[in-house]
Amino acid sequence: MTSAGRFAPSPSGELHVGNLRTAILAWLFAKASGRDFLLRVEDLDRARSGAETEQLRDLRAIGLTWDADVVRQTERGALYDQAIQRLTSEGRTYECFCTRREIQEAPSAPHAPQGAYPGTCRRLSAAEREIRRASRPASIRLRSEVTERSVEDQLQGTFVGMVDDFVLRRNDGVTAYNLAVVVDDAAQGIDQVVRGDDLLPSTPRQAYLATLLGLPVPEYAHVPLVVNHDGVRLAKRDGAVTLDDLAAVGIPAARVRDVLLESLGLPAGPLAAALGGFDPATLPKDPWVWITPQT
Ligand code: GLU
Repeated sequence: MTSAGRFAPSPSGELHVGNLRTAILAWLFAKASGRDFLLRVEDLDRARSGAETEQLRDLRAIGLTWDADVVRQTERGALYDQAIQRLTSEGRTYECFCTRREIQEAPSAPHAPQGAYPGTCRRLSAAEREIRRASRPASIRLRSEVTERSVEDQLQGTFVGMVDDFVLRRNDGVTAYNLAVVVDDAAQGIDQVVRGDDLLPSTPRQAYLATLLGLPVPEYAHVPLVVNHDGVRLAKRDGAVTLDDLAAVGIPAARVRDVLLESLGLPAGPLAAALGGFDPATLPKDPWVWITPQT
């Protein structure tokens, strides 16, 4: 299998310039290292009808190309089932009946990092589980044997973060992001993960899970987010931030692409022309403030 990088948007709405900048970076990282570039639609949750079409249209409009058909997570349930079955047969999962509120209110386990699942359901007896099943469907959690794990990141260096008994399958039957992303990246031959640095805290969990499943841990690069003028992560409410919004005020997609490339210290123009000057070591490390460009 060839090695590949990827962009993996959730089709919950239109992409904004922050998402587009991350997509450009993922493309540049992949192409500059001789990898294929793949697109995966992460539609297990919060998918809005029509959003995928809009997202692919916008990615094409800024010049992104991908080297295989788009993959959708809702079509890959069998792969996720297999992974969960494997972990379960190894005794590495357990059923959890906790509500969100019970988790919040539970005393945390000694030495457990803040925000870690407190382990309430980890030691339920078979009889207790039987009783709980009658009142509430279970989620499936990983029975983790570590509390933290370190990962290497091309931009952030060594990052040590929490690994707890995180959810693999939610109690409504939906596969959790952390499981799906690990299974998909490996199955698609993705050995380079470039994404927003808001996902860095989840990365130790994913690297640990990959190791348990006997899968290679990809190379990571977590890139700075785009923020509004208050320094807050860019969102739809921040004015003209999607290609549609910007086109409506007279700013075409090619101009948006150019502004995004220039924010990375790269020359304006087609993406392929920026490849020659692309060097991960010289990328800006701070969040980038979006200001609507002049027409
Ligand atoms: N689907 C996730 C998101 O849009 C990205 C997941 C990833 O890149 O690993 O936030």
